[in-house]
Amino acid sequence: MGPFSTPLVELHGVGPARSASLTERGLETLVDLLLLAPLRYDVPPPRRSIVDLAPKVPATLVGEVISARKVKQRRGGTFLDLTLSEGAERIRVCLWNRGWLKDRVQKGDRVAVSGTWAGNGSAFSGSAIEVVGESAEVLESWLSRLEPIHPKIPGVAEGTLRRLLTEALARVAGMPDPLPECHRVRLGLPTLTEALALVHQPSSREDAERGGARLLFDRLLSLALGARSASSKLEGPAIPMSVSEAVMERILARLPFKLTKEQNEAVSTILSDLAQPLAMRRLLLGDVGSGKTAVAVAAILAAVATRQQAMLIAPTDVLANQHATLLRTWLAGSRVRLGTMTSREPRAIRRSTAVALAKGEIDILVGTHVALGAEVAFQKLGLVVVDEQHRFGVLQRLAARGKAIRPHVLALSATPIPRSLALALFGDLPMTRIAARPHGRQTPKAIVSSLTVAYDALLAAVKQGNRAFVVFPTIASESTPSVEREGRLRAKSVLNGVRVGYLHGKLPYEEQAAALDAFRRGETDVLVATSMIEVGVDIPQATVMVVEGADRFGLASLHQLRGRVGRGALPGTVHLIPTPRPKGQPPRGDTDPAIVRLKLLERENDGFRLAEADLLMRGPGDWCGVRQHGFGGSLPLAEGRDLGFLDAAEQVASILHAERYDEDHIGWYSGLAERLGGLRFEPKDAV
Ligand code: ADP
Ligand code: MG
Repeated sequence: MGPFSTPLVELHGVGPARSASLTERGLETLVDLLLLAPLRYDVPPPRRSIVDLAPKVPATLVGEVISARKVKQRRGGTFLDLTLSEGAERIRVCLWNRGWLKDRVQKGDRVAVSGTWAGNGSAFSGSAIEVVGESAEVLESWLSRLEPIHPKIPGVAEGTLRRLLTEALARVAGMPDPLPECHRVRLGLPTLTEALALVHQPSSREDAERGGARLLFDRLLSLALGARSASSKLEGPAIPMSVSEAVMERILARLPFKLTKEQNEAVSTILSDLAQPLAMRRLLLGDVGSGKTAVAVAAILAAVATRQQAMLIAPTDVLANQHATLLRTWLAGSRVRLGTMTSREPRAIRRSTAVALAKGEIDILVGTHVALGAEVAFQKLGLVVVDEQHRFGVLQRLAARGKAIRPHVLALSATPIPRSLALALFGDLPMTRIAARPHGRQTPKAIVSSLTVAYDALLAAVKQGNRAFVVFPTIASESTPSVEREGRLRAKSVLNGVRVGYLHGKLPYEEQAAALDAFRRGETDVLVATSMIEVGVDIPQATVMVVEGADRFGLASLHQLRGRVGRGALPGTVHLIPTPRPKGQPPRGDTDPAIVRLKLLERENDGFRLAEADLLMRGPGDWCGVRQHGFGGSLPLAEGRDLGFLDAAEQVASILHAERYDEDHIGWYSGLAERLGGLRFEPKDAV
């Protein structure tokens, strides 16, 4: 990537200390720095005259400097102490820690200064100042400028960061664009280096949006290219596995229920794939609760019946253990040997599991992505099943193992996604869909609800001996998760007398597993959790779910969440409670966009259509994890264009992939994907 990979230490003013601070934040090269997206853009506060100042309301003053002094502060450093006049009015202005500005501001200068005034008798505390002279244009442009606010990096002040960015932009300016010009021009996008400058140093909101659009496009393109290259790398010769009907019957008899027609169809499609000497790469899409696990287990047992090994990979330790428990129950009394491998097992145990795998002493390995580590070698791995593949780039990792003989691969996903998104995320894997749910089971009802109604319903369910979930959004910036804070409040008030457990990602694994087990066994009635229960948690006695701050979740996430209740004999209900409005503001009406979006869940049961609606309303950024990385997130990109972008990115990816587009450029995009959070795909719930 040429100068993009220049180490940051080569920039002026980056010594060992600053370099360490930057590295701490994962910033090592120019591209890392340039891809550090501004969190938001601030505009200067509106201009006011001295007499119109209101306490604590940010404002910009324009006046003449009557006196300017550099003054020592009590706690070290210096500040700039000014007297400003505007007509007959005068005010004292202090710029804390900025005594050095004394050299720039002289008595008699006409300046603009932004800041806030605490009230009668206090000085105006300035945060930015500029000598504007008599020119109306200079003043105008200073008043209308956009100020990018970057994430805080301890040890690197915002001013320093801006200076480093300026130098970095100068060093990469004019570099060849990784996106071929024909595509770029057709899409009306700026070049990459232009885009970076527009995002970091915009002169208008339109600028910032234009730059952000290009970076969003590149992110989508890098996802799409990554998925395509992984899915084509998974192609290759494989061991054909064919199972007789008699054996298949015995396998299906191990399951505690009869497969539905759709499950059976999926199984036979998979079996005919497995019988080929070419590696299967199939995506099994099925709504939550559609019974993908049983289909996957049937395939796994078919592989084992042909004396091949199989691996089942889950996105979390908790789910891996749930799958292992399930398999142990279904396989009780059989000769099939099961192993597990997650990051929870001590290294020594993992090593001995690896040895057993290499000797062929384990038939089925259930684990998380750690089981894909280079040190794990199988004697004859015939089939890999990836549950909820979008959670991490498992296919990519699998592809990276690059063996001459490939295992067959089956990816399961409950995320109902439109075709263009599926292509961008998974590449062109053949897909099988299970549309119907096991007989008689209904999609749990969702209602937009209030705290009182929701918790009354929850308590009634608990009284009847059923169980319930309470879900809170995770807010990344919070040190104590809302689940803990708010959940404990609810436990003391509305849930008083009810046995409550807590489950969230910040708890140590043992506590997570214990909370889930206690809930499963009925030792707690209510599980207060984050959306981490969205995938796979199977507790048939749970009938009610209350989702607080529901508008912070994506519709597809909410749909996944609702799949966690009503899995047993009784139907389930989900109460969606929108985030309360701040004090003093009118309550949300029926036309509030958040309510309109949530109401879709009341009438729409098809996860696929919900996902599409959400994609239209929120754009693909939320789906592809772009939002959380800033670019496109701080920018109100037109959503129609967002969606068009996804199609465009997918098209461009397929052209570039087919043309085996210049390695360097593909390399740039995979580097970009890594820097922007890897090829992970996480529907982003909370803001
Ligand atoms: P998902 O597709 O969301 O992974 P699961 O495989 O966990 O769904 O299945 C959801 C629930 O339905 C489980 O409790 C499972 O035991 C049950 N189930 C699956 N298939 C059938 C079936 N054919 N008949 C009855 N119950 C089934
Ligand atoms: Mg599942």
